[in-house]
Amino acid sequence: MNGIPRTAFSALRQGSSRYSTPIEAAIIEHAFDSEISRLTLPLPTGPRHVHCYLVDGTLFDTGLGLGEPGWSALGIERVAITHMHPDHVGGAAAAAAETGATVHQGALDYAQCERVWGTTDWPERMAAWFRRHGVPPPVADELIEQGHAFAPFISYARDPELRREGDEVAGWTTLELPGHADGHLGFFRERDGLLVGGDHLLAEISPAIGLYPESRPDPLGDYLASLERTIDLDARLVLPGHGEPIRDPAGRARELLEHHARRLHETAAALERDRPRNGFEVSLDLFGHELAPTQRRFAVAETLSHLEHLVARGRAERAEDGRSVTYTAT
Ligand SMILES: [Zn+2]
Repeated sequence: MNGIPRTAFSALRQGSSRYSTPIEAAIIEHAFDSEISRLTLPLPTGPRHVHCYLVDGTLFDTGLGLGEPGWSALGIERVAITHMHPDHVGGAAAAAAETGATVHQGALDYAQCERVWGTTDWPERMAAWFRRHGVPPPVADELIEQGHAFAPFISYARDPELRREGDEVAGWTTLELPGHADGHLGFFRERDGLLVGGDHLLAEISPAIGLYPESRPDPLGDYLASLERTIDLDARLVLPGHGEPIRDPAGRARELLEHHARRLHETAAALERDRPRNGFEVSLDLFGHELAPTQRRFAVAETLSHLEHLVARGRAERAEDGRSVTYTAT
């Protein structure tokens, strides 16, 4: 069939380097080989799509939970979750209910999942936290309405099997790869070097590494260590949550290490010794002034993860009282 190719595979077959994936479709299936199926589900925002993978009866991640992918027809025996972000965990309850599958999720990740999606005041806590970091009230408070509109759709699975570093799930080894999310897991199959990587490693974009309320103290430090670990792991192929498969995972991990080294340098350069600045102000230096509220919140969270890493390394100091948090150079 001719027309605009819809997958990298069909683009390749047609001798084209471009393809377009229609996001209005409920589900798009790509078969990499006889064993791996990639299920692409639409997202209303951000990268506009998220991938789930079905390998030998194990479904990795479940999309946002909007729409009805028809899980029961896919031969799912178990579900494994890489991390608790809505576009990965949101369909887990439906997938489990439709198939009778057991859900496997990281122990720390599930605890955070419950604190965020299983409580009613998370948007308020998040907005108050952003205000303490200098985010203007309209930008911080838009979260509250959005958060409450969104949360009811995130149907994570209750009481999953809790997984930790080294646990086996149907022939896959659980790896804790914190950074993008504190409890982020990867699932590694040693015999062919396949890593289902969630959002730990993405080909086209740099995974967001943000500091959020109640998160681990130094998410960027965690992430840099997870990238070093990825280089040592020497996986053959990473199946990511967004974008194309990564065929040189160690090379991509090195690029991301360099990216964060540059951004740490810029962050340090934005600080002064005698003029405390908050995370919002520093985010204007790093990401510019022209961002929509959602993008600004990501920018501030990303700026804060870099500021906190500078603090952890003794290159910056944090000062806080009940109302505000600021940073200075050391
Ligand atoms: Zn994510």
